[in-house]
Parts: sequence; C-alpha cells; structure tokens
Amino acid sequence: MKASEKLAEKLIDTHSLTEEEYAALIRSREEVRDTLRGAAVRERKAIYGNKVFTRGLIEISSFCKNDCLYCGIRRSNANAERYRLTPDEILECADRGYELGFRTFVMQGGEDAYFTDERLVPLITEIKRRHPDCAVTLSLGERSYDSYKRLREAGADRYLLRHETADEEHYKKLHPAEMSFENRMRCLKNLRALGYQVGCGFMVGSPFQTPETLAKDLKFIESFKPEMCGIGPFVPHHETPFAKHTAGTLELTCFLLSVIRIIHPPVLLPATTALGTIDPMGRERGILCGANVVMPNLSPVSVRKKYELYDNKICTGEEAAECRGCLERRMAHIGYEIVSERGDFLA
Ligand code: SAH
Repeated sequence: MKASEKLAEKLIDTHSLTEEEYAALIRSREEVRDTLRGAAVRERKAIYGNKVFTRGLIEISSFCKNDCLYCGIRRSNANAERYRLTPDEILECADRGYELGFRTFVMQGGEDAYFTDERLVPLITEIKRRHPDCAVTLSLGERSYDSYKRLREAGADRYLLRHETADEEHYKKLHPAEMSFENRMRCLKNLRALGYQVGCGFMVGSPFQTPETLAKDLKFIESFKPEMCGIGPFVPHHETPFAKHTAGTLELTCFLLSVIRIIHPPVLLPATTALGTIDPMGRERGILCGANVVMPNLSPVSVRKKYELYDNKICTGEEAAECRGCLERRMAHIGYEIVSERGDFLA
C-alpha cells in the first residue's frame, strides 16, 4: 500500500492526522482523492441524507474599516461603491426569503461602525419576531465580547467568522498590521462561549498558503470542531494588492471539503459562491465532495454588484427567486434535495 493510501485510511478510521501527515496527504492528494471523496459522501449521507440546506445571504453593508489585502471592499479601495441597507430593506429581504422557503438568514457585511449594537439588536429582534422558526446568523467581523453577548441575547443563533488561516505568520501576510491573529482567535472563542453555533473557515489558494499552513487549518478544525466551516477558493480582486495573484483551484477546494467532512462529520459545509465563480459546476462539485449547504443571495439586486469581495462574482443579476429555483434544479440534477429547514448542526 502506498504511503498516501495509508494516510487516507488512517484519516477515515480515526478522523485525525498529525500536522505533518496532513501536509503529506495534501501533497499526494491525486492518489487518494477518490477514496476520500467516497468516504466524505458516506459520512455526510449518514447524518444529513441527501439534503442540502440553504442560507439566505443578506449583504447589509459594503462599508468596511478593515484593510484585508485580499478583499475588494477593503477601506483602501477608493473605487468600491459603498452602500448600506436600511432596516426596512433588510426586513424585506428576510420576508421575501421566508416566502421562498429560506429558514436561515445570514446578515453579512464589512466592519461598518454604523451597525452598532443599538441598531442591530432591534433588527435581530424583529426578524425573530416575524420569523420565529428561522435561525439568524451574523457575519459582521470582529466585535467585543459584550457586543457578541448583546447580539446573542437579542436572538442571534449563529456567527460566521472565518479564521482565514491558522498560521500566525501567514495571517500577517494577508492582513494589515493593525489586525491580529490573536484577536481573531479570541473572537471565535468568545462566540463559542456565548453559545453561538460558530463557523470558521479559510480561503483555498490564498497568497502564501502552503500545504504546511493548510495542515494547521485542518488541525485547528480538528480541535475547535466548528458547527460550520466556510471554505472557498481565493479569487483575486483587481483593486487589491493581490490583484495579480492566481485564484485557488476547484480541485484543491473539493479535496479539502472531503477532508474536512471526514475530520468532523456533522459540520455544516457550504459549497460557496466563490466556488461557483471559478467553475460553472463548482457548487455541484462541492456538494459531490462532501458539502451540504448553499448560500444564495437575498440582497436587493440594486446593491449586489457593490458587494464585490472578488472579481466576477456570480448571481449578481438575478432576483432571489431565480437564484433559489436555479439552485433547486442544479441540486436535483445531481440527486440532492434543497430543503426548507433551519438546518441546525446535528451533534
Ligand atoms: N467582514 C466580515 C464578513 C465578510 S467577508 C468578516 O470579516 O468576517 C466574508 C469572507 O469572504 C471572508 O472571511 C473571506 O474569507 C472571503 N473573501 C474576502 N475576499 C475574498 C476573495 N478575494 N476571494 C475569495 N474570498 C474572499
């Protein structure tokens, strides 16, 4: 048996490898891709069957005080068009989403000082009042423990905060000096302590990423055991310092989706819009490698192009209903079913 096959077998049997073993597995992935894909699909089917959960994404603001080197809405991008949705617009997105069958709403945005706790608390309360059977997920970046606490008490159920990379030196190459790996990790721990279902995650193929940094990401997922994990390819944005870097690949993203599913079988794992952006069948391929979530856009079409984290983002022209219908057909085509459920983590 080849060394890579032994590693794959160990991963399938024990859901764990050492950091060195993860790096070796990633390097020799061609030899074990199919084996791991098969195991990932079996794990996912045992827990979630052929269900695919949807999250209605509402992009509430493109203002951001941060300057992440990879991101198209970083504050230094003077050409980014900035917008923020009003509370009424956000509530309308949620109402429309509810009619379409969404039972989770994700409010995502740049780190916009306008969205204070005083503004977010009534908004979360009102969404939960109108739609008590829905989960509210926030993805609004780093905030204080107190802020996370107030938002949680207002009814927020889940929080997505990608760790971006579990290697501190790599983190420094992706972010400006005023941001810190330490604070990112502290935020994730605070969210967990407050009882949120927490999503971490990273970009695949981000500049300076190596099999060794990825091995740290996998070890982090092994120990943190996130309820959700968002991974998608890095896609360059023309107005950022990483404009000339190459995008992450479908192949490596799909491989890592399989590995993450095996490490932590109940994890909620999206086939991301970025994956659909680098390949027309990207989201289908993601599901077939172990993902079980898709996150269509519920933002008003008038603002969608302005929430441009990376170039060529798909689904910026369609209405929410079209996106839902399109994904239902795409999933049915590969034998999966989009369901109208909250899609909570099943431990
Ligand atoms: N500001 C919030 C959420 C918005 S960004 C936060 O910091 O969590 C959501 C995710 O998009 C980021 O975590 C990042 O991993 C991803 N992203 C940003 N720029 C990207 C790019 N150029 N290509 C692919 N993904 C990107």
